Amino acid sequence: MIPSEHQRQAYLRALGIDVWKPRDAAEAEHPEESATAGGMGWSELRDCVANCTQCSLATSRTNTVFGVGDPNADWLIIGEAPGAEEDRRGEPFVGRAGKLLDEMLRAVGQSRDTVFIANILKCRPPNNRDPEPAEAAACRQYLDRQIELVQPKIILAVGKIAAQNLLASNEPVGRMRGRPHDLGGTPLVVTYHPAYLLRSPSQKSKSWSDLSLAVRLAAEQKA
Ligand code: URA
Repeated sequence: MIPSEHQRQAYLRALGIDVWKPRDAAEAEHPEESATAGGMGWSELRDCVANCTQCSLATSRTNTVFGVGDPNADWLIIGEAPGAEEDRRGEPFVGRAGKLLDEMLRAVGQSRDTVFIANILKCRPPNNRDPEPAEAAACRQYLDRQIELVQPKIILAVGKIAAQNLLASNEPVGRMRGRPHDLGGTPLVVTYHPAYLLRSPSQKSKSWSDLSLAVRLAAEQKA
């Protein structure tokens, strides 16, 4: 098979070779590379993420982790970034924290199949370090398009990285949780990351009240 120009450029970039083009020409040929996923449908967006080289995590990832679930879900769960297991399997929240997230969802009558689960980053940061602001910024177009496509009734931001990035805030989770926020017209609730809850089970009752708030806000949106 003859590689497309898109594949050739992605390959050159993965090797660290800059491919310079006049801005207009680049945008006209490959709109997906001009830092906007706006207007894409699910399959185009999925392909674009799978081939993304917008940041250096492209060189260390095993798989991109696009997200899973119902593309028309009422609930959109947003976490931080794939860990080692997620990177291996290409699926979000499949480790121990993922099992706890599944239980949290079950407690509010949801499941991995009825919600949509995504992350701030589609690629694993090496050694599970926090996402760099530039990585989150490069990846944000994909998440924004997922939010537009899903049109959720409620967004649940799990953990500091998700909450701070989505709300453009430096506040700790403890101050952001427990009250409704708004993300472009969609109600958003912040709660603790399940990995944190595994380390601090005494906080689980607070996360239960956050989930209850999310249930109430989602119902209000549907009414
Ligand atoms: N933690 C996250 O925030 N996301 C995952 O996908 C896995 C663990």
